[in-house]
Amino acid sequence: MIPERFRKAVTFSYDDGNEQDIRLVKLFNQYGVKCTFNLNSGLDNSTEWLYQGMPVRRLNLPECIDLYKGHEIAVHGTFHRNMTELSESELHEEIFSDRDRLTELFGSVPVGMAYPYGCHSQTVTECLKSAGIRYGRIVHPSHSFALQQNLLVFLPTCHHDDENLFSLAEAFLASESDERQIFYIWGHSYEFDGNHNWDRMERLLDKIAGKPDIFYGTNAEILL
Ligand SMILES: [Zn+2]
Repeated sequence: MIPERFRKAVTFSYDDGNEQDIRLVKLFNQYGVKCTFNLNSGLDNSTEWLYQGMPVRRLNLPECIDLYKGHEIAVHGTFHRNMTELSESELHEEIFSDRDRLTELFGSVPVGMAYPYGCHSQTVTECLKSAGIRYGRIVHPSHSFALQQNLLVFLPTCHHDDENLFSLAEAFLASESDERQIFYIWGHSYEFDGNHNWDRMERLLDKIAGKPDIFYGTNAEILL
């Protein structure tokens, strides 16, 4: 829940737990904003792939307990499989095992999830509920700051590469609505390397961080 005295809140959601998270966490900490990191506990740095010609590797999560301190850890599927294509037991493994392994590693029980590939279905949502997961983020942008009814299929405001990112930030800062407003940005940290645009996040944070009338919280701190 957004604390009573704030009308506006900003939150971030970054997926996959890649090596570029180290730089992103540093940036977030420097600007005093909070993020939810959606992690795949069954994957590690043993495989590498290329995004726009830049190498992408996952982090070895047992080495990252301190890295993510102060931020939220959420489920993203044990092996990052498309959850709408799985058998019941595979789905169970993706959600329950990831939740349990992340709990064991980070010491608190995850209450949120980002759907791998943004793919969701009624069956997946039901499984989330039975695992005690209270919100699930998809990838389709809302381009809105309004509160949402269905937290299990939650739409982010936009991806950090959305062409409307800065106009949305301006609109968010200028808004004088009496309604609660949430600016929710998502992405993958490796995209900044591949697209050579780390400055985009710095420009965004220069604009929206450090405002006395904005609450900066993790997804759970803001949504639940
Ligand atoms: Zn992912």
